[in-house]
Amino acid sequence: MIHQLPELPYAKDALAPHVSAETIDFHYGKHHKTYVDNLNKFLAGNPLAEETSLEAVVRKAPQGPLFNNAAQVWNHTFYWNSLQPRGGGEPTGELAQAVAKSFGSFAKFQEEFTAKAIGHFGSGWAWIVARDGKIVVETTANAGTPLAAGGTPLLTCDVWEHAYYIDYRNARAKYVESWWKLVNWQFAAKNLEAAKSSAR
Ligand code: MN
Repeated sequence: MIHQLPELPYAKDALAPHVSAETIDFHYGKHHKTYVDNLNKFLAGNPLAEETSLEAVVRKAPQGPLFNNAAQVWNHTFYWNSLQPRGGGEPTGELAQAVAKSFGSFAKFQEEFTAKAIGHFGSGWAWIVARDGKIVVETTANAGTPLAAGGTPLLTCDVWEHAYYIDYRNARAKYVESWWKLVNWQFAAKNLEAAKSSAR
Protein backbone atom coordinates (compact mmCIF):
# COMPACT_ATOMS: atom_id res chain seq x y z
CA MET A 1 0.00 0.00 0.00
CA ILE A 2 1.30 3.42 -0.99
CA HIS A 3 0.31 6.01 1.61
CA GLN A 4 -0.98 9.41 0.52
CA LEU A 5 -1.00 12.82 2.15
CA PRO A 6 -4.69 13.22 3.06
CA GLU A 7 -6.50 16.41 2.09
CA LEU A 8 -6.75 19.05 4.79
CA PRO A 9 -10.30 19.11 6.17
CA TYR A 10 -10.50 22.92 5.60
CA ALA A 11 -8.81 25.67 3.59
CA LYS A 12 -5.22 26.59 4.50
CA ASP A 13 -6.25 29.99 5.85
CA ALA A 14 -9.33 28.71 7.72
CA LEU A 15 -7.66 28.49 11.15
CA ALA A 16 -6.30 32.05 11.07
CA PRO A 17 -5.56 34.06 13.11
CA HIS A 18 -4.87 31.24 15.61
CA VAL A 19 -2.87 29.13 13.15
CA SER A 20 -1.77 31.03 10.05
CA ALA A 21 -1.85 29.87 6.43
CA GLU A 22 1.95 30.15 6.44
CA THR A 23 2.20 27.70 9.34
CA ILE A 24 -0.08 25.29 7.48
CA ASP A 25 1.99 25.69 4.31
CA PHE A 26 5.02 24.46 6.20
CA HIS A 27 3.44 22.14 8.74
CA TYR A 28 1.09 20.35 6.36
CA GLY A 29 2.71 21.04 3.00
CA LYS A 30 6.27 20.27 4.06
CA HIS A 31 6.51 18.44 7.42
CA HIS A 32 3.46 16.20 7.05
CA LYS A 33 4.22 15.54 3.38
CA THR A 34 7.83 14.60 4.18
CA TYR A 35 6.63 12.05 6.76
CA VAL A 36 4.40 10.50 4.06
CA ASP A 37 7.26 10.40 1.54
CA ASN A 38 9.62 8.86 4.11
CA LEU A 39 7.00 6.34 5.23
CA ASN A 40 6.69 5.08 1.64
CA LYS A 41 10.47 5.01 1.30
CA PHE A 42 10.96 2.94 4.49
CA LEU A 43 8.04 0.64 3.64
CA ALA A 44 9.53 -0.33 0.28
CA GLY A 45 10.62 -3.97 0.56
CA ASN A 46 9.29 -4.26 4.13
CA PRO A 47 6.61 -6.91 4.92
CA LEU A 48 4.50 -4.16 6.54
CA ALA A 49 3.99 -2.72 3.05
CA GLU A 50 1.30 -5.43 2.72
CA GLU A 51 -0.75 -3.91 5.55
CA THR A 52 -3.90 -2.26 4.26
CA SER A 53 -4.14 0.41 6.96
CA LEU A 54 -1.78 2.99 8.35
CA GLU A 55 -2.96 2.10 11.88
CA ALA A 56 -1.70 -1.47 11.42
CA VAL A 57 1.72 -0.21 10.32
CA VAL A 58 1.91 2.08 13.37
CA ARG A 59 0.92 -0.75 15.73
CA LYS A 60 3.28 -3.34 14.24
CA ALA A 61 6.39 -1.37 13.28
CA PRO A 62 9.37 -1.75 15.63
CA GLN A 63 10.89 1.43 17.08
CA GLY A 64 12.93 3.15 14.39
CA PRO A 65 12.51 5.21 11.25
CA LEU A 66 9.56 3.25 9.84
CA PHE A 67 7.59 3.60 13.09
CA ASN A 68 8.57 7.26 13.44
CA ASN A 69 7.36 8.21 9.99
CA ALA A 70 4.21 6.06 10.09
CA ALA A 71 3.23 7.42 13.50
CA GLN A 72 3.96 11.00 12.46
CA VAL A 73 1.72 10.61 9.39
CA TRP A 74 -1.08 9.24 11.56
CA ASN A 75 -0.56 11.82 14.34
CA HIS A 76 -0.63 14.75 11.92
CA THR A 77 -3.79 13.63 10.12
CA PHE A 78 -5.37 13.23 13.56
CA TYR A 79 -4.13 16.68 14.56
CA TRP A 80 -5.69 18.42 11.53
CA ASN A 81 -8.97 16.73 12.35
CA SER A 82 -8.69 17.79 16.00
CA LEU A 83 -9.00 21.40 14.85
CA GLN A 84 -11.70 23.29 13.02
CA PRO A 85 -12.50 26.86 12.08
CA ARG A 86 -14.81 28.39 14.72
CA GLY A 87 -14.06 25.49 17.06
CA GLY A 88 -13.43 25.67 20.77
CA GLY A 89 -15.88 26.08 23.61
CA GLU A 90 -16.77 23.04 25.68
CA PRO A 91 -17.87 19.52 24.80
CA THR A 92 -21.50 18.50 25.20
CA GLY A 93 -23.38 15.29 25.88
CA GLU A 94 -21.59 12.10 26.86
CA LEU A 95 -18.14 13.56 26.32
CA ALA A 96 -18.92 16.43 28.71
CA GLN A 97 -20.14 13.91 31.27
CA ALA A 98 -17.05 11.74 30.83
CA VAL A 99 -14.76 14.75 31.30
CA ALA A 100 -16.64 15.84 34.43
CA LYS A 101 -16.50 12.31 35.82
CA SER A 102 -12.76 11.96 35.17
CA PHE A 103 -11.59 15.44 36.20
CA GLY A 104 -14.31 16.92 38.40
CA SER A 105 -14.93 19.83 36.02
CA PHE A 106 -14.11 21.10 32.55
CA ALA A 107 -11.93 23.82 34.07
CA LYS A 108 -9.80 21.22 35.91
CA PHE A 109 -9.47 19.16 32.77
CA GLN A 110 -8.45 22.21 30.72
CA GLU A 111 -5.92 23.19 33.37
CA GLU A 112 -4.34 19.73 33.40
CA PHE A 113 -4.16 19.46 29.61
CA THR A 114 -2.67 22.93 29.28
CA ALA A 115 -0.05 22.26 31.98
CA LYS A 116 0.98 18.97 30.38
CA ALA A 117 1.10 20.42 26.85
CA ILE A 118 3.20 23.39 27.94
CA GLY A 119 5.35 21.36 30.32
CA HIS A 120 6.25 18.55 27.90
CA PHE A 121 10.01 18.72 27.42
CA GLY A 122 11.08 18.87 23.78
CA SER A 123 9.17 17.61 20.77
CA GLY A 124 6.01 15.60 21.14
CA TRP A 125 2.26 15.57 21.47
CA ALA A 126 -0.37 16.23 24.14
CA TRP A 127 -3.37 13.90 23.96
CA ILE A 128 -6.85 13.48 25.31
CA VAL A 129 -7.34 9.72 25.45
CA ALA A 130 -10.13 7.34 26.44
CA ARG A 131 -8.61 4.44 28.36
CA ASP A 132 -10.27 1.88 30.66
CA GLY A 133 -13.53 3.84 30.69
CA LYS A 134 -11.88 7.10 31.73
CA ILE A 135 -10.69 10.24 29.98
CA VAL A 136 -7.00 10.88 30.57
CA VAL A 137 -4.51 13.51 29.50
CA GLU A 138 -1.05 12.37 28.48
CA THR A 139 1.93 13.37 26.39
CA THR A 140 4.14 11.37 24.06
CA ALA A 141 7.66 12.22 22.95
CA ASN A 142 8.69 12.69 19.33
CA ALA A 143 6.54 10.38 17.16
CA GLY A 144 4.96 8.58 20.12
CA THR A 145 1.24 7.90 19.82
CA PRO A 146 -1.42 6.43 22.13
CA LEU A 147 -2.37 4.11 19.25
CA ALA A 148 0.73 2.10 20.05
CA ALA A 149 -0.12 2.06 23.79
CA GLY A 150 -3.63 0.69 23.51
CA GLY A 151 -5.68 3.83 24.20
CA THR A 152 -8.24 5.56 22.02
CA PRO A 153 -7.08 9.08 21.21
CA LEU A 154 -9.87 11.67 21.18
CA LEU A 155 -7.89 14.83 20.38
CA THR A 156 -4.29 15.95 20.07
CA CYS A 157 -2.14 19.06 20.21
CA ASP A 158 1.17 18.96 18.34
CA VAL A 159 3.79 20.55 20.58
CA TRP A 160 6.73 20.23 18.21
CA GLU A 161 8.21 23.71 17.66
CA HIS A 162 7.35 23.49 13.94
CA ALA A 163 3.66 23.64 14.96
CA TYR A 164 3.95 27.13 16.43
CA TYR A 165 7.29 28.80 15.74
CA ILE A 166 6.10 30.86 12.74
CA ASP A 167 3.08 32.25 14.60
CA TYR A 168 4.23 32.31 18.21
CA ARG A 169 8.03 31.92 18.12
CA ASN A 170 9.02 30.23 21.40
CA ALA A 171 5.72 30.98 23.19
CA ARG A 172 4.22 27.50 23.38
CA ALA A 173 1.74 28.69 26.03
CA LYS A 174 0.18 31.18 23.57
CA TYR A 175 -0.11 28.47 20.95
CA VAL A 176 -1.82 26.08 23.40
CA GLU A 177 -4.21 28.89 24.35
CA SER A 178 -5.08 29.24 20.65
CA TRP A 179 -5.43 25.47 20.30
CA TRP A 180 -8.37 25.61 22.72
CA LYS A 181 -10.11 28.08 20.38
CA LEU A 182 -9.92 25.60 17.51
CA VAL A 183 -10.81 22.33 19.23
CA ASN A 184 -13.18 20.13 17.24
CA TRP A 185 -15.36 18.59 19.96
CA GLN A 186 -17.52 16.76 17.41
CA PHE A 187 -14.42 14.88 16.25
CA ALA A 188 -13.60 13.98 19.88
CA ALA A 189 -17.19 12.82 20.50
CA LYS A 190 -17.08 10.65 17.38
CA ASN A 191 -13.82 9.05 18.55
CA LEU A 192 -15.29 8.42 22.02
CA GLU A 193 -18.33 6.76 20.43
CA ALA A 194 -16.06 4.51 18.32
CA ALA A 195 -14.03 3.60 21.45
CA LYS A 196 -17.21 2.53 23.22
CA SER A 197 -18.50 0.42 20.36
CA SER A 198 -15.18 -1.38 19.99
CA ALA A 199 -15.17 -2.12 23.76
CA ARG A 200 -18.62 -3.76 23.55
MN1 MN B 1 3.91 18.54 13.50
